[in-house]
Amino acid sequence: MRYVYSFDHKHRRPPMEHKDLLGGKGANLAEMSSVLKLPVPPGFTVTTDACRAYMESGWPSDIDDEIARHVAELEATMGRSLGDANDPLLVSVRSGARISMPGMMDTVLNLGLNDKSVKGLAKVTGSKRFAYDSYRRFIAMYANVVMGADADAFEARLADARSATGAATDADIPADALVSLCTDYKKLAKEQTGKAFPQDPYKQLRGAIEAVFASWNGARAVAYRVRENIEHTLGTAVNVQTMVFGNRDERSGTGVGFTRNASTGENKPYGDFLVNAQGEDVVAGIRNTQNLDDMKEVFPEVYDELLDIFVRLERHYTDMCDTEFTIEQGKLWMLQTRIGKRTGVAALKMAVDMTKGTGKGADRWKITREEALQRVTADHLDAVLHPQFDTSGEVVATGLGASPGAAVGAVYFNADDAADAADRGEEVILVRNETSPEDVHGMMVAEGILTVRGGLVSHAAVVARGWGTPAVVGAEAIKIDGKQFTVGSVTVREGDVISLDGSTGEVVVGAMHTADAEPPEEFEILLGWADKVRKGKLAVRANADSGDDAANARRLGAEGIGLCRTEHMFLAPDRLPVVRRMILADTEEEEAAALDELRTVQQADFEEVLEAMDGLPVTIRLLDPPLHEFLPSVEELKIKQASGGLSDQERRELAAAEAWSEHNPMLGTRGVRLGVIKPGLYAMQVRALLDAAAALRKRKKHPIVEIMIPLTVTREELALARSWVQTEVDSALKGMKNKPDITIGTMIETPRAAVRADEIAEAADFFSFGTNDLTQLTFGFSRDDVESRMMPAYLDQGLLKRNPFDTIDQTGVGDLVRLGVERGRSTKKKLKMGVCGEHGGDPESIDLFYRAGLDYVSCSPYRVPIARLSAAQAVI
Ligand code: ADP
Ligand code: MG
Ligand code: MG
Repeated sequence: MRYVYSFDHKHRRPPMEHKDLLGGKGANLAEMSSVLKLPVPPGFTVTTDACRAYMESGWPSDIDDEIARHVAELEATMGRSLGDANDPLLVSVRSGARISMPGMMDTVLNLGLNDKSVKGLAKVTGSKRFAYDSYRRFIAMYANVVMGADADAFEARLADARSATGAATDADIPADALVSLCTDYKKLAKEQTGKAFPQDPYKQLRGAIEAVFASWNGARAVAYRVRENIEHTLGTAVNVQTMVFGNRDERSGTGVGFTRNASTGENKPYGDFLVNAQGEDVVAGIRNTQNLDDMKEVFPEVYDELLDIFVRLERHYTDMCDTEFTIEQGKLWMLQTRIGKRTGVAALKMAVDMTKGTGKGADRWKITREEALQRVTADHLDAVLHPQFDTSGEVVATGLGASPGAAVGAVYFNADDAADAADRGEEVILVRNETSPEDVHGMMVAEGILTVRGGLVSHAAVVARGWGTPAVVGAEAIKIDGKQFTVGSVTVREGDVISLDGSTGEVVVGAMHTADAEPPEEFEILLGWADKVRKGKLAVRANADSGDDAANARRLGAEGIGLCRTEHMFLAPDRLPVVRRMILADTEEEEAAALDELRTVQQADFEEVLEAMDGLPVTIRLLDPPLHEFLPSVEELKIKQASGGLSDQERRELAAAEAWSEHNPMLGTRGVRLGVIKPGLYAMQVRALLDAAAALRKRKKHPIVEIMIPLTVTREELALARSWVQTEVDSALKGMKNKPDITIGTMIETPRAAVRADEIAEAADFFSFGTNDLTQLTFGFSRDDVESRMMPAYLDQGLLKRNPFDTIDQTGVGDLVRLGVERGRSTKKKLKMGVCGEHGGDPESIDLFYRAGLDYVSCSPYRVPIARLSAAQAVI
């Protein structure tokens, strides 16, 4: 196998298509050298194949010869040789994986210097100072990154040298001091590592390359890959490149530049540089950098050349690039380029700005609308939609960023206190160990939600995301104690102000400043393009439970509601007592009276939702959760009972709560099963819905109602439930002139339902895949229980590549979805199908749903723009 390629090797395809083999840095260096013919110091790339071979069975035996041949070639090109005592060739050794990755080994510069060649360098450059400055940098870097010595010790000696010579900066330390610093450094390396600093340049080279390989599996790099879902088997490439010297004199320098402004997207190059400096000096903030505009004054010719290169890079890569460059005695060298990272705002602006207009003249290099859509990610959209902190503060705890956005408010520890405070006009953050449906009225008024336990699909997380409320969950370092919490030595009492960052999961004590999100104009432009692309192929609906949510969703581009959960309508403070009366009813009359009361209020709710989505389909799910969720907690009542007694009402509530309590409510009496036990309940809901639809028809509106039965597992079950619904529909619509549009369907959320979808389809007009439950039941993972402890361990150890509650499991749960679609349509060719789990807002999952043949995805209102984009990306 071939392990080494020079930058100007003639690959059959453009080098930038060989990132797998050459790594990102290597591929782009080759692209700049061999295709763009930019001034790039010559060098070669040791491939990722070599790194993989090394990881498997150590240093590949046949690689030394190949490296030696490429070094010889480089020496011939440069007319200098490694370690030469008169005019030495120096190189840098640079890591570069396919995906740029912090945590990998740092770059080693000036390799090839030793006690002899440093003298040669001093002679040919006429500067002893420069030669020993380069040498001291090399020894320190090599000792640190290759030999494992502590960098601080070297920094300390450098500081000593500065103060001993009265130098203001490193650049002022005189040559002789640098000479003795080099001697010092070599001793220090020996002391710290037990090994001598190698004088043989080939040993130095082999050591550096091996260190890069080994750093692939260093703890920091592994942790980074876990977080970013990068595969551990990719390996890194290593680039060996002729050194050029920005630290040679005042006609030299080094810098970084962006072809456009990466933060605003403005079409104006942006950059920083330093005169007489090398390598990381610019980013390390050791000296104050100057910006690109100053360069026009300092190095006018280089400035023109660089700007010209920026234009060529953009046209070639058809995107904004970032670059690293060095100027040696007035000559410009390009050391790196890649497609630059950018903020959300900049990403949107650049995508639109770089899209072809009429396609004439200077526009020719530009991209198509489809390409522009591919450039924008869910995170970019997310970033422009949510308010952001624009300052930073001291982070006291970090949990999971469960619902993005910035929130500042006074902490309250239960829903009632939070609601009271909000009534008084306070901005509130609800802090709970975890939340349950009983906390909803407090969550509703909160600016932000913080929980100690729970994962990304815990109740708190799901509800918060649904409302676009920032939330941090599973911040386990926090201990709640009555009406205060402690974290480390910090105590936060009720009413104290904290700040939450729902993107990063950070919790800060005190108020940080936030700025409102104002999506730029490009936001609408891009989403308009996205809608055109996906039209008729994949629709986007929202999960919304109220008129306000529905209106908001529609404003954000939702084409209907894929899931309206009716239980939230039961939980409002004025409704809960009626629901409890219904559950506690001793007689049929009592039950019927309570149901009737609920029917009236539900009708009003339904009217609001249907009106907000007028003319668009609205899927209403009949009641799904176990009834005990509407009852007070058994534990709390028991404590009260022990400490003095309960009212009559409370005694009955306790009895009912105990009667309805289940060992595993998630697998117990919920969904359609509840309907079987309390048939009056579903009938009532359907009546309320039909009355709402009829009322709207009278007002010349066009409600489109999809009645959805949750959690059905068998055909018989669905047929029975359908018959109740049908009876109500028939009686309500009898004799009506302008009948509303009504269909009846079911959720597919158990493995059995997916497998038997052909039978279930017989009784259904539509399917909606409930992928949250389907994931729980397919894996046998109780999501609230596995997310905080088990999931991180599974992800760290690679037992799962992704949290299947975030991104649908492509092969397991995904297969069940595919099977369900296929079998359902084998019974009814045109069966309408969608998905309404959390996955409906996740880009990769949306891709799978599109390929599986679903007609729509449904997600929380705030994810709708993201889903519109992702749906278009899936279609392209
Ligand atoms: P990173 O991936 O951390 O940016 P690089 O390999 O790009 O690391 O190296 C960091 C810096 O070192 C570069 O920005 C450049 O300034 C300097 N550098 C690397 N190779 C050379 C070289 N051959 N000549 C001069 N400077 C170099
Ligand atoms: Mg670095
Ligand atoms: Mg770099």
